[in-house]
Amino acid sequence: MPKVMNNMNWMILALLAVTMTAVAQQPASAPQNQQPVAATQPERTAAQPSQTQSGQAQSNLAPPTTMNQVVDRVIMREKELTKFLSPRTPIVETYLQNLTQDPQLGPIPQDDHYFLGRMDLSESIDRSDYLQDKAKDEGMERRLLGGFTKKFKLQYQPLGFSWMVFVDRNDFDRQHYDFHYVRREFLGDVRCLVFDLTPTKDTGRGRFIGRIWVEDQDFNIVRLNGTYAHPSRNSYYFHMDSWRLNLIPGYWVPSYIYSEEGDFTAGARNKIAFKAQTRMWGYNLKTATPNDELTNITVDSVKDDTPAAQDATPLAAEREWQQQAEDNVVERLQRAGLLAPEGDVDKILQTVVNNLEITNNIELPRPVRTRVLTTSPLETFSVGNTIVVSRGLIDVLPDEGSLAMVLSHELAHIVLGHNLGSQYAFNDRMLFSDEATYQNLGFKHIPEEEAAADKKAIEMLKASPYAQKLETAGLFIKALQARAPQLSALLQAHLGNNITENGTVTRMAQLGASAPALDWNKLDQIAALPLGGRVKLNPWDDKVEIVKAQPVAITSARDKMPFEVTPFFPRLSRYSTANAPAATPTPTTTATTATADASATPSN
Ligand SMILES: [Zn+2]
Repeated sequence: MPKVMNNMNWMILALLAVTMTAVAQQPASAPQNQQPVAATQPERTAAQPSQTQSGQAQSNLAPPTTMNQVVDRVIMREKELTKFLSPRTPIVETYLQNLTQDPQLGPIPQDDHYFLGRMDLSESIDRSDYLQDKAKDEGMERRLLGGFTKKFKLQYQPLGFSWMVFVDRNDFDRQHYDFHYVRREFLGDVRCLVFDLTPTKDTGRGRFIGRIWVEDQDFNIVRLNGTYAHPSRNSYYFHMDSWRLNLIPGYWVPSYIYSEEGDFTAGARNKIAFKAQTRMWGYNLKTATPNDELTNITVDSVKDDTPAAQDATPLAAEREWQQQAEDNVVERLQRAGLLAPEGDVDKILQTVVNNLEITNNIELPRPVRTRVLTTSPLETFSVGNTIVVSRGLIDVLPDEGSLAMVLSHELAHIVLGHNLGSQYAFNDRMLFSDEATYQNLGFKHIPEEEAAADKKAIEMLKASPYAQKLETAGLFIKALQARAPQLSALLQAHLGNNITENGTVTRMAQLGASAPALDWNKLDQIAALPLGGRVKLNPWDDKVEIVKAQPVAITSARDKMPFEVTPFFPRLSRYSTANAPAATPTPTTTATTATADASATPSN
């Protein structure tokens, strides 16, 4: 019993932090991130010697002394970024909600679209898709995007969103663009120079028009906000706000893009109205392989040392086989960039699973592990003793009780022995391209097992510390039910069972029936959260962590935005070993650590 209590305390603390931050990712907080900077500093301070953290060639260059020299440096750095990224094939995910006006709630989702692919940044910008039904459009899309024209049709060519990673992949220079210095401004901890960009006369279609933010040490672009000029007939360029993060020394990698179109003023006739989030990750996927192989060899040799190793009984052999399948799947999904490496979010999930197990006296031959799927669609599945929950689902859950609800269903499958995936113990079944993951792996239970898991899960919840917290979990089911018909793409599971069927919630639906009435106007009733409020995915190494943010009070029903897409406002900071992708377990204290403070100090 004391063990339970310890777990509980730790978890409540952890989850309280989660709950507090859940409402923080809302647009109301956004302007606070932009602190205007006193414009009294002489122009020259923009040109401090670059800190050695970049480790790049430009650290040998003399600091620019005029704005023209700064612009030259910006252009040079953008070309270096293009070159640096050209061998990489990051994952790009776009989730888009078409909007309709609700008199009470404002613009709400009408329907949605989901795109997932790998970007190829080598020659131009290209992509290949994970979702099969999208792949057939690709021939058409390639023809539409011949040469350097950047156009995409109203039926949302996913490649259109991928273009927004660069200002101009091929022609970012003074011949094609005019630069107008605006002011100096902080984005998060990073002091930036702000420029407005306009294409020069007669430079053709699809040139960027808008604003760029450039950090003032190495002059890398950290944010671009605008659109592309002069679309051709039957095409459309979207507005976009594109953010980069300093996740490795010297480079700011494209990470988030928010797009939005539509006009909801009286009398406006929207041809198009949507909000979309594009996320990129998996930049380091290709180069991670050699180390992985070495690690695997070490693990295997340790395993063989077990002194009790004798011939396996039939049951032991069956379990061993299932574990092999489980390990294969987990490793393969991680290699495809679809599963985050083990981390702190797993600890929170695992604590909730432990609480369910301990209070229900569940003893399993192997511990249950939890992992986070890096994608947005709301889904869960389990393979062997590993429970997998998607990033998007963790984002929208309102509290710990609803998290317990989600995990209890998968734990029930494990407890009931509904093991799927033993075919993946054969290694040939792991040999497929990353883009073909969804065609080669699947963990869908038959309806009878789904019903049995729900029943068992509710039993376990009622015997657990979450028994008193199931009202919010039920409200979540109700909110999901209210939005399910409009969110078929968000609710389309790609590996596990769907949570809804034909717009009706099927998973744990019983909890919804016993919940209080859903009331959008009750401001203290938070049934579901917007996407992106809880889990932060590192675009470089795919690690996930819990978002740290100050809570922002909800002041109207429109602030709730359940399951909705919102703008991005990441708090920018310079690369340092503190926020580095923690690839090395032992912290290295080299002199190359970025000195964020120095950038904020006028150097005269
Ligand atoms: Zn299930």
